[in-house]
Amino acid sequence: MIITMKQGAKPKDIAIVAEKIKGLGYKPHISKGKDVTIIGMIGDYAEKYKDAFESMEVVEHVSEIQKPYKLASREFKKENTIVKVSRNVEIGGEKIHVIAGPCAIETKEQMFTTAKIVKDAGATIIRGGAYKPRSSPYAFQGLGEKGLKYLNESGSKLHMPTISEAMTVEQVGLVAKYCDIVQIGARNIQNYDLLKAAGKQTKPVLLKRGMATTIKELLLSAEYVLSQGNYNVILCERGIRTFETATRFTMDLNAIPVIKKLSHLPVVLDPSHGIGIREHVGTMAKACIAVGADGLIIEVHPQPELALSDGPQSLLPDQFKTLMKELDLVAKAVGRELLY
Ligand code: PEP
Ligand code: MN
Repeated sequence: MIITMKQGAKPKDIAIVAEKIKGLGYKPHISKGKDVTIIGMIGDYAEKYKDAFESMEVVEHVSEIQKPYKLASREFKKENTIVKVSRNVEIGGEKIHVIAGPCAIETKEQMFTTAKIVKDAGATIIRGGAYKPRSSPYAFQGLGEKGLKYLNESGSKLHMPTISEAMTVEQVGLVAKYCDIVQIGARNIQNYDLLKAAGKQTKPVLLKRGMATTIKELLLSAEYVLSQGNYNVILCERGIRTFETATRFTMDLNAIPVIKKLSHLPVVLDPSHGIGIREHVGTMAKACIAVGADGLIIEVHPQPELALSDGPQSLLPDQFKTLMKELDLVAKAVGRELLY
């Protein structure tokens, strides 16, 4: 249930309510809005304490959250969540951030070269996979920690935040050590131990929708991270699997307005994986912005024909540069900013 504090409630009033929640064996989830503070008390039978909180002088009212996901829902928090990634990168505000880089980190040179290319074109976050979830066990599996170091070094050199995927509970700590955002991939969205581990650390988490995951399941997976106390969750639509075989996946653009109605969390879209065809990535990237994306993930490789992962969907440097300018125009048309 949600406990809405009276307007102007003081930190000590909030602390009293939070302590009472803890005393009953629940975890308080505090969200400070512009005018009011709300406190989530979530767990089995929390509702039976409704009257006990409603009768407190500092409490305005108490309501129940109807949705199965609680902290992720708009019922819990009306304003959009803005996730602070670094000093000057925030996802969920007016500016649309483009996350770009190679699918996999292959060599130090490839990582540094690509990072510079995407920065010069206007990307604000660098991506690169060090642990790769490959369909085939014989395909390149990633450079592991060495790759994370290359990504981290390129981010430091260019003053840009970075993102990389963690596939296991152990990798969460490593990715969080070297990167600014921990990515949970489509194949792991229902790995609940992994979600809990991501929720127990403090770096923002980008959660990719699974290829066979409903919107409700996506939000329930986000709830796993949020319920551990990490409220910096970014959702990501990257295409779902349908009967269509002409594209790699089917980009579910329908999901964006629906998710935004149901949840306050920012949504990033990944047209590279969504369509999987270089020639069409740009078109879909524009559509993603039109439909309300707070950010994009775009794979770029200096020599896609030599890429060890996802070469066919990776943009060439010049294509990316041209696309960024086009995306800026679409962003302006929908009242957002993209390039500085
Ligand atoms: C990736 O970002 O390279 C990736 C593997 O994405 P997904 O989990 O969406 O397939
Ligand atoms: Mn990829």
